Amino acid sequence: MLGQMQCQPLLISSIIRYAARHHGRAEVVSKLADGSLHRSNYAEVERRSRRLAQALGGLGVKLGDRVATLAMNGHRHLECYYGISGMGAVCHTINPRLATDDIAYIINHAEDVVLFADPFFAATLAAVAPACTASLRAIVIMGGPGEVPALDLPAGMALLNHEDLIAGADDGYAWPIFDENTASSLCYTSGTTGRPKGVLYSHRSTLLHSMAGNAGDALGVRAADRVLPVVPMFHANAWSLPYGAPMAGAALILPGRHLDAPSLVALMNGERATFSAGVPTIWLGLLQHLRETGTRLETVKRTVCGGSAVPRALMAAYEEMGIPIVQAWGMTESSPIATVNAPTEATLKLEPEAALDLRATQGRTVFGADVRAIREDGTEAPWDGETPGNLEFQGHWVANGYFRQPDTAVGDHGWFPTGDVGTFDANGFVRLTDRTKDLIKSGGEWISSIDLENIAVAHPDVAEAAAIAATHPKWAERPLLVVVAKPGRELTEASVLAFFADKVPKFSVPDAVLVVDELPHGATGKIQKNVLRAKYAGYLMA
Ligand code: ADP
Repeated sequence: MLGQMQCQPLLISSIIRYAARHHGRAEVVSKLADGSLHRSNYAEVERRSRRLAQALGGLGVKLGDRVATLAMNGHRHLECYYGISGMGAVCHTINPRLATDDIAYIINHAEDVVLFADPFFAATLAAVAPACTASLRAIVIMGGPGEVPALDLPAGMALLNHEDLIAGADDGYAWPIFDENTASSLCYTSGTTGRPKGVLYSHRSTLLHSMAGNAGDALGVRAADRVLPVVPMFHANAWSLPYGAPMAGAALILPGRHLDAPSLVALMNGERATFSAGVPTIWLGLLQHLRETGTRLETVKRTVCGGSAVPRALMAAYEEMGIPIVQAWGMTESSPIATVNAPTEATLKLEPEAALDLRATQGRTVFGADVRAIREDGTEAPWDGETPGNLEFQGHWVANGYFRQPDTAVGDHGWFPTGDVGTFDANGFVRLTDRTKDLIKSGGEWISSIDLENIAVAHPDVAEAAAIAATHPKWAERPLLVVVAKPGRELTEASVLAFFADKVPKFSVPDAVLVVDELPHGATGKIQKNVLRAKYAGYLMA
C-alpha cells in the first residue's frame, strides 16, 4: 500500500523558489572585482535566475547539456547555480586554479556548450578557447557590456555578457518539472595523479545533502545567520552553502576574488558574518593577520573547516577567541559532507584538553551517509579508536562512479573507497590518520603523517609542514618533515626535532627536517605531497 502523501521531485529550483517567497528580503552581498559591494536578495536572485534559464534556452541549451562556470563566489555565479540547474542543464563548475591544459581537457571531456566566466579570467579564456571548439558555442562574461575583455575567440564561438543576456529575457519563464534524478551539476576533482575526474551530482542528491548539511549537528545554518563561504563555489558546490543558506533563509556574503586575510576580515566584520567555512590554510592566514594587527572577528560565532586535517593548535587558537572551529570530512565524491564533528551527550563530559583532542578528529557520520573502516583482511575495523582501516562510504549523495568513466562504477549500494585511512572510536568519531598514498610504513609500523604535521605546525616558528615517506635502507621508509618558517622567523632542524621529543613515540619522530621557502600547493590549496615525494624520496639515502 502506498502512502497518501504528495510526491514532488526534489529539484534545485524549489530551493530558490522557496527562498524568494519566504525569505525574499534576505540579503545576498557580493564583493565585486573592484572591491565594491553589490547588494541583492533571494527574490532578486530567483527572478534573475529564471531570466537566465530562459536566455539559455534561447542559446539552444537543452535538458542535460553542460554549461560551465569559471568564476569566484559572487551573485552572478549564484544565478548560474540556479538558472542552469533549474532549467535542467548541468552546471559544471570549473576550478580556475587548474592548469589551462587541464581546463581545456575537462571542457572537452564534459562537452560544455556555454561557458560563464568572470572578466578577470580573460587570460585563461584566451588560452583555453582555441582548444575547445568541438563543443563550446559561447562564452558569457559575468558582468555588463563594459566589462567584456577584448578576446579574439575562434570562429563560431560567441562572446556575450551576463547582463545583456538577462536583460534580453522576460519574467514569463516558469521553472520546469522533471525527474529528481536528473543531473544537476558537475565538478571535476583536482586529482593529485592523472587527469581530473568528473563527479556528476543530481537534483535529488543535492537537495538531500543540503538538508543534511543544514542540520543542527552538521553546519547548522539558521535564518538569523549571515553565511560567508570562503570555500569556493567551484569546489564541491562550496560544501552545500549556496543551497543551504537560501533553504534556511540565511543571508549569503560572497567574497569574490578577495580571499587575502585583510580583505576577508574586513568583509566578515563589515557585513556582520556569523558563520564561515573554508580550508585550514584560510584560517591559518586569518589567524596570523589577526595576531599581527590586533584586530578581532567581531561577529563570527563559528566556522566549519575541512578539505585537509585541521591542526589542533589552530582549533585551540580560535577557541581562545571564542570561535569554535567545527571539523568536517568528505570528498568531492560525497558532495562533500560525510562526517562532521559535533559532541554527543557522552563526549560533552570530557575535560577541556580531551574535548579538544576529540574535536580535532574528523567527526561523526551524518544521517544519509554511512562510513566504515575496512582492514587489510577485508573485515570492518572494531570501534576501538585504535585499529585503522581504509575508509569507505555510501549514501544518498555519494558518487556511484565518475562521469563518462564506466570502469569506475561502484553501484548505488556499493561502498566508495575514499583512499583515506582512519579509525572509529566507541562513540563513532572517525579519526583520519592518512591518505593511503601518504602513509609512512617504517619497519612494519604505520606512522601517521597527519599526526606529525599537526605537531609540527604547533611549533611557534612553523608556518606549514608536510610529512612524507622517504626511502630508508633499514626501515624501508622513514618520515621526513618538510617545513616552512613563519615570516621573519629562523627555523633549525634541531628545534623542530626537539619539539617532537615528548609528543610521539620515538620511532615516529622524523629522521630529518628540511626547511624550505615554500611548499607546492594544488588547485584546491592542498599541499602536493606527491610532488614532495618525487623530489625528496631519496633524501635519506644520500
Ligand atoms: P582532492 O583530493 O582533489 O583535493 P577533494 O577536495 O574531494 O579532492 O578532497 C578530498 C580529500 O581531502 C579527502 O579524501 C581527504 O583526504 C582530504 N580531507 C578532506 N577533509 C579532511 C579533514 N577534515 N581531515 C583530513 N583530510 C581531509
